[in-house]
Amino acid sequence: MRNLYLTNTLTRTKELFKPIHPGHVGMYVCGPTVYGDAHLGHARPGVTYDILFKLLQFLGYKVRYVRNITDVGHLEHDADEGEDKIAKKARLEQLEPMEIVQTYTERYHEAMRLLGNASPSIEPRASGHIIEQIETIKKILAAGYAYESNGSIYFDVEKYNRDFHYGVLSGRTLEDTLEGTRSLDGQSDKRAPYDFALWKKAEPEHIMRWPSPWGEGFPGWHLECSVMGEKYLGQEFDIHGGGMDLMFPHHECEIAQNQASRGTQGVHYWVHNNMITINGQKMGKSLGNFITLPELFAGNHPKLEQAYSPMTVRFFILQAHYRSTLDFSNEALQGAEKGYKRVMQAAKDLKGIQPAGAAHPEIAALYENAVEALCDDLNTPVAIAHVFEAVKWINSAKEKKATLSKEDLEQLGKLFDDVVFGVLGLRDEEAAAGGKAEKALEGAMTLVLEGRAKARAEKNWAESDRIRDILKAAGIVVKDTKEGAEWTLE
Ligand code: ZN
Repeated sequence: MRNLYLTNTLTRTKELFKPIHPGHVGMYVCGPTVYGDAHLGHARPGVTYDILFKLLQFLGYKVRYVRNITDVGHLEHDADEGEDKIAKKARLEQLEPMEIVQTYTERYHEAMRLLGNASPSIEPRASGHIIEQIETIKKILAAGYAYESNGSIYFDVEKYNRDFHYGVLSGRTLEDTLEGTRSLDGQSDKRAPYDFALWKKAEPEHIMRWPSPWGEGFPGWHLECSVMGEKYLGQEFDIHGGGMDLMFPHHECEIAQNQASRGTQGVHYWVHNNMITINGQKMGKSLGNFITLPELFAGNHPKLEQAYSPMTVRFFILQAHYRSTLDFSNEALQGAEKGYKRVMQAAKDLKGIQPAGAAHPEIAALYENAVEALCDDLNTPVAIAHVFEAVKWINSAKEKKATLSKEDLEQLGKLFDDVVFGVLGLRDEEAAAGGKAEKALEGAMTLVLEGRAKARAEKNWAESDRIRDILKAAGIVVKDTKEGAEWTLE
């Protein structure tokens, strides 16, 4: 098996990947909170961990990829304060929270499918794992790292930090953490501002609530990932991914919960993708640059000059390394669109090239170098640079400025199959759309010609001619043969 290197946030170094169980990889990625449409911020982790998933499979691993659905509902990654977002929306629209969850989960799936992302192996929901979350809280309480306060359970960060290091992932000290935390108001049940909720008592107006040994309430957001990761991947597993914005506090809290409940940090490689900015700005509702994926694909937002197809967006994301920031702008996306189309055109042209001349060793190297780049911490921009080299060769051969041997053509074919359409997960949208339209037309024409045949059987020549003329005006020529009517496009 080829060597794969990943930058591990825990050690802050690029490490040789060694799975716990040879040949098998357990990977957990934090999924969406489904109270609204998937937006640009979901596209990047969606694509990044899909590439990792596909690369691991390409390398020969059997991968169990778990990505959760946060449907219990928490206010902006902070279960401790404020109102539960799903519950709030439900009250306003007079809907059952799970109805909203269902709608947005389906819309999220559709956006991910359009972006070319494979479905995870398991997609567990927080609401389906309340019992397991309660059991984990009991273990943390028994270990002495949590306390009950007015029907809620909080993690005792100070006590934990005396025995372990709270901040091992983000490199923070408890003092750093304190600086970034609002001071406690008199209303809080917490002992210290950095303590986080494992279980929150539900106020009377709170819709989503479950019974527990501490009264009716709901689990803290950080807990679900600890619990579902353990349930589906074991007490220790290989890879945990997510956006850099989740590193603290979400993933830091996960490590603390794992250590307190099962005596191990639980995760061997922490992988974090960097964030997306829009024209250099952070995306935010107040900045007017909050773009959802359906808006992006339809070009339906004031910041967008045009629609950008899902594959253009995927190509754009792949042009940057996942650990670098990525700035969305119309110019950059239009550039990506051109690049994507050039690559797809070359894939088509490659099929029409006749072998000639001697083999070029540079072409064989392109495949190896592209795969090597992907194995070097998912260096997709370098892999794409090698693909563009291949495109140049194909274009030269098409213009008869170079010849490509049988071996060259095989190597180029492998590069497109394994790298472009394989690990990078690109597909030819135009061909796919064309194929769909063709199928639809065939279906419609079968129906139309059946109607015409019926008219002819009834010797209704006027109707038969009328259908033929309408079709002719639409560019469809109908010819009557002994076997029945045949049609072709003009
Ligand atoms: Zn998570």
